[in-house]
Amino acid sequence: MCKTEMEKEDDLLDQLWKSRSLAMERIRGNRQHIILVASLIDRIPNLAGLARTCEVFKTQGLAVADAKIVQDKQFQLISVTAEKWVPVIEVPVNSVKQFLEKKKREGFSILGLEQTANSVPLDQYIYPKKTVLVLGREKEGIPVDIIHVLDACIEIPQLGVVRSLNVHVSGAIALWEYTRQQRL
Ligand code: SAH
Repeated sequence: MCKTEMEKEDDLLDQLWKSRSLAMERIRGNRQHIILVASLIDRIPNLAGLARTCEVFKTQGLAVADAKIVQDKQFQLISVTAEKWVPVIEVPVNSVKQFLEKKKREGFSILGLEQTANSVPLDQYIYPKKTVLVLGREKEGIPVDIIHVLDACIEIPQLGVVRSLNVHVSGAIALWEYTRQQRL
């Protein structure tokens, strides 16, 4: 029996839907096993820049204090739709410690990106595959109570006189190094 025009259209729509779902799966799948924790960061350009960097390097997720931030106009201008592809996890500041402890139990290494007396220089560090990377506050860095939860701290060696890098720049450098190591 011949298919009606409507049935043919239905088949076509079905095919289109299936290939779209497959394409979406491909985009969403195969993420790297690294999660960036940006819950301590306040400035929108830093958060939006990080979302974009996390998308580019296909991180497993980006934790932010308030997930509503992705609706902000300034955020969206900088992130250029990254938040649609990278899973944004809401982890309020007062839950960061619990979140890190939970991830530790799931087998992740909990690392801090911070300049401390015990930090390992980034170029001497070999990342574990399952990594959670905590970034510090723009002004004060990572608070002591969170430093205590960390398995290790990594720092980016600096050559100039300015005390520190911008937090998004630091996150991007550290994430690229993780990506580079996983590609080897
Ligand atoms: N602790 C800094 C201020 C924080 S900079 C100071 O004393 O001036 C904001 C965040 O950027 C830090 O918490 C850290 O996560 C990151 N950062 C900046 N420079 C860094 C570096 N050289 N190595 C590792 N992380 C750095």
